Amino acid sequence: MSENHNWEVIVIGSGPAGAMAAYELAKAGKRVAIIEKETLPRYKTCGGGLVFRGRELLPVSVQSAVEKEFDSLAVYFDKHPQPFTAKRNFPILSMVMRDQFDHLLIQEAVKLGAVLLEGQSLQHLDFESEIQVQTQDHTYSTRYVVAADGVLGPTAKLAGWKETRKLIPALEYEVGVEPTVFERLSKEARFDIDAIPQGYGWCFPKANHLSIGVGLFAPKKIQLRDYYKAYLHKLGVESTTFEQAHGFQIPVSARKDGFAKKGVFLTGDSAGFADPLTAEGLTNSIYSGILAGQSIAQQFEDPEKAAETYHAALEERLLPELRFSEVMASFFYFMPSARNLLMGKYGQRACEVLTDVFTGQLVLSRELKQRALKKFGIGGF
Ligand SMILES: Cc1cc2nc3c(=O)[nH]c(=O)nc-3n(C[C@H](O)[C@H](O)[C@H](O)COP(=O)(O)OP(=O)(O)OC[C@H]3O[C@@H](n4cnc5c(N)ncnc54)[C@H](O)[C@@H]3O)c2cc1C
Repeated sequence: MSENHNWEVIVIGSGPAGAMAAYELAKAGKRVAIIEKETLPRYKTCGGGLVFRGRELLPVSVQSAVEKEFDSLAVYFDKHPQPFTAKRNFPILSMVMRDQFDHLLIQEAVKLGAVLLEGQSLQHLDFESEIQVQTQDHTYSTRYVVAADGVLGPTAKLAGWKETRKLIPALEYEVGVEPTVFERLSKEARFDIDAIPQGYGWCFPKANHLSIGVGLFAPKKIQLRDYYKAYLHKLGVESTTFEQAHGFQIPVSARKDGFAKKGVFLTGDSAGFADPLTAEGLTNSIYSGILAGQSIAQQFEDPEKAAETYHAALEERLLPELRFSEVMASFFYFMPSARNLLMGKYGQRACEVLTDVFTGQLVLSRELKQRALKKFGIGGF
C-alpha cells in the first residue's frame, strides 16, 4: 500500500465509473488514488451485458475480458409468437464478467499513474480546507472526491446528498446447464418482457455458463426468486449443474439535488445514472466517470467551475436521455395493455429504433423524442 496520504483526487470505488474517472485524471497528470473496499478482482452482481455505445466510449480495448459478442438480440413478449429481433454488423452486446472487466479498466488507470488502495472502506468525510477521507485504517486528505461507490456506497450521503434516486431490486444467477441446453441458449442474448410483471428477465450467455436474471421496475415487495424459477422453466432449463444467486439494487432515476458540490462529484450508480427503461448502467457509469475526471482536470484550481463544467457536460446528452427513458419506462412497464397493442403494431420498428439508440447509432433530438411519445400517445416530456 502507498504511504502517501495526500492526494489531489480520491476516487471511491473501482467499478467502471471509478476506473474511468481515475484514468482521465491520471492521464491529465493528477495525483489520484482509488479507494476500494474489496480486493480486486472482485465479483459484481451484474448481467455483464456491455452495449456497443458503452464499449465505444472506452479509451482502451477490453477484448481480453469479453467472453462472447452478439451482433443480434431478441426481445420476447408472451403475446407474440416470435421474438422481435435486431441485427447489426457490430457487437450490439459484449458479454463480460465484471471481476475481469473492472480489473482490466483499473489496471489501465494504474498504468497511467493512478494508485489503487484496496481493502480500504470509506467510513467518513470531513470538510476542512481539504477533504479528509477516513477509511477503517487511514485518513487521507484531498482536494476532490469522486463518488463511484455504486448504488449502496456511502459517499453521497456522507457529503450531504438526500436519497432521491429510485432503486429497483434485481436478482442475478450465474447458472451452469447441461451442454445441450447451453448450446441452445448460448445462440442469442435474450430479453423476456413478460417474465415478470413491470419488469423483465434476461438470459445472457457467457463463455461456459448463463447469466440469468429478473428485474422489477416497480417499488413493491415480491418474491423475485419465484419469478426467476418460472423464467428458468420458460427458458426450458429444467435442471442446473450449479446456481449462484446474487441480489442487488439498480438506481433507475438520477438524483434530484445535483451531482457535484463541495469538491465531491457523483458518478455512475452513486448518481443514479442507470437507464430507467433498460436498467443498463455500464454505459453511463463509464461516460459519467470520464466526464467527472475531465471536468476536475480541466478546472482543477476552481471546484465551483469544475462542478459547473460537470453539470453542463451531463446536461448535453446523459440527463436528457435519462428523462426521455423515464417517460418511456412509465408507459412500457405501467401501461401493459396499451404497450402490447402498440408492440403488435410497431414492435419490430420499436426494437430497431431502441437498438439504434442504445448502441449509440441514433441520437434522438428533442423533436424526435416528442414525435415518438406522441405516436405512443404519451405526453409530458
Ligand atoms: C442484477 C443486475 C444486473 C445488471 N445487469 C447489467 C447489464 O447487463 N448491463 C449493464 O450495463 N448494467 C447492468 N447492471 C447495472 C450495472 O451493474 C451498474 O450500473 C454498474 O455496475 C455501476 O457501476 P459503478 O462504477 O457506478 O459502480 P459499481 O460497479 O457498483 O462499483 C462500485 C464499487 O465501489 C466499491 N465500494 C462500495 N462501497 C465502498 C466503500 N465504502 N469504500 C470503498 N469502496 C466501496 C464497491 O466494492 C465496488 O467495487 C446490472 C445491475 C444489477 C444489480
